[in-house]
Amino acid sequence: MLFLRGIGAVWVSAPGGGGRFRGGIEPFTWGSFLLYQSPRSLYLKNVEIAEDFLPLRSSAAALMCAARWHKELSKRMMPGHGEDALISLLWGSMKNLSRNLSPLLLDIRFVWRWANLWGVAPSLDLCPECGSPLAEASGNPVSASPAGFLCDTCAQSARRGVSSNAEVRPASVTRDAFAIIRASSCLSAENFVRGEAANRMIVSNSQPLEKELKDAARWFYSFL
Ligand SMILES: [Zn+2]
Repeated sequence: MLFLRGIGAVWVSAPGGGGRFRGGIEPFTWGSFLLYQSPRSLYLKNVEIAEDFLPLRSSAAALMCAARWHKELSKRMMPGHGEDALISLLWGSMKNLSRNLSPLLLDIRFVWRWANLWGVAPSLDLCPECGSPLAEASGNPVSASPAGFLCDTCAQSARRGVSSNAEVRPASVTRDAFAIIRASSCLSAENFVRGEAANRMIVSNSQPLEKELKDAARWFYSFL
């Protein structure tokens, strides 16, 4: 499966396989792909490799993260529908992953920005029920609902209502986790990189926080 500029995801046959195209058909390879359209199928004729992302394979966490992105994209991208902004997000995220930035923080950034591109991301600024800002420093955990993160007032009325059922959504995230989610997802790439070291340090010193962020990332994928 190739993710092509202007065209999106397409399946292509590669006659001769790795013997003929070598690294050109390895997963995560970026480059110029020369294709031939026969009446029945699309064939690969040649690959000019621009980036093979081989160094990623030396880190299990980075490799898992890259594999997850590609798997989720291949499941969700509509074949033949151009997704240049999404492909560009994938490129930037893969580059950051190969720069040894935190796979967990990059995963949150990637999935939230992807959902944001498609207009389905949960807001990290405003409560979806009443529109009040979420960033108020109340110290309380930030509750999660199917519509996204809730302000304190709406979270209280939600608690009085129906109990939550067992789905991927976490019941709430701590203020620390929420601050890192906001910083990882909303900041410009440059500021993300600048804040990454501090955030990575906080996350790697706290297993509960790491779990919270993993759960939040999993929840964000469910919006897509
Ligand atoms: Zn509210």
